[in-house]
Amino acid sequence: MTGKTLKKGSRCTICKSKNEKNKAVVFLPHHRLALCKKHYLEWFERRVAKTIKDFKMFNKNEKILVAVSGGKDSLVLWNVLNNLGYETEGMYIDLGIDEYSEDSKKLSVNFSNKINKKLNIVSIREEVASIPDIDKLTNKPACSACGTVKRYYMNKYAKNLGFQVIATGHNLDDETAVLFGNTLHWDLKYLKKQYPVLKEENGFIRKVKPLCKITEKETALYAFFTDIEYIEYECPFSEGASSIEYKEILSKIEEKHPGTKLQFYSNFVKSIYPILSEYDKKQSEEIKLCKKCGEPSFNEICSFCRLKELVNIGNTNN
Ligand code: SF4
Ligand code: ZN
Ligand code: ZN
Repeated sequence: MTGKTLKKGSRCTICKSKNEKNKAVVFLPHHRLALCKKHYLEWFERRVAKTIKDFKMFNKNEKILVAVSGGKDSLVLWNVLNNLGYETEGMYIDLGIDEYSEDSKKLSVNFSNKINKKLNIVSIREEVASIPDIDKLTNKPACSACGTVKRYYMNKYAKNLGFQVIATGHNLDDETAVLFGNTLHWDLKYLKKQYPVLKEENGFIRKVKPLCKITEKETALYAFFTDIEYIEYECPFSEGASSIEYKEILSKIEEKHPGTKLQFYSNFVKSIYPILSEYDKKQSEEIKLCKKCGEPSFNEICSFCRLKELVNIGNTNN
């Protein structure tokens, strides 16, 4: 396994080993680093640790709930937090998306057994309806309904289980794709929420993204070197998502100009986000408690309860 422009016989920038076993196997063009396997894994974990520290995401006295999907990012994140000595449990939300959910659940359970950590599982088919059923019964796009359901249960269960923070596996490619889309539309409502830490407030638990400065390729390499088995195919509902197109466009730019994604994201977080959050203070939405379920909401009835109502109406009409 090599980085795209790794030259044959390159030595690791850190250990400079001539030993065949320790020769550089990865080249990170935007960091100008050629690394052997051992130093790549160290570099990766150090980078995540630095992000956690720089953004004051959490500390060793806090309990972290890792949102696990069975994909590489969330499993890699859980592995790194575990290696860094944080107190973690996983949470898997079974979306009931046929084979995709069955496979990703199995891989998540296997991984939790491998690292000997508890995995909490919630089945939304038992709680409301599966995502394919919600898709058929309501006129909500599957991904929007899925986002509502995931946010609701993650927040509710994290609080009920006594966690202080939810960690998700969003990586630099995810964050730049969303940032790109929100910038194209100048969507201030979403731009002002795009920060690697969303602080706890009024019943919403703190949410953090420790992999926000790590690319998808870097995560895949970490998973490869540490033998993490993850789901290698996409959710069937992801087809045609604009975020995938944005990722492709950004990756083309990145190929020609290494470091663009990191610069785009880091400069937004450092220079633009503080301006938007100042602006936000005057525009902030009031958080209430949902009249139906008592969970925090921006409206009288939260989006999850409204979705549940639509599912019930759909069931009655069928
Ligand atoms: Fe949910 Fe859409 Fe992601 Fe599938 S692609 S897991 S439906 S958000
Ligand atoms: Zn080395
Ligand atoms: Zn509600």
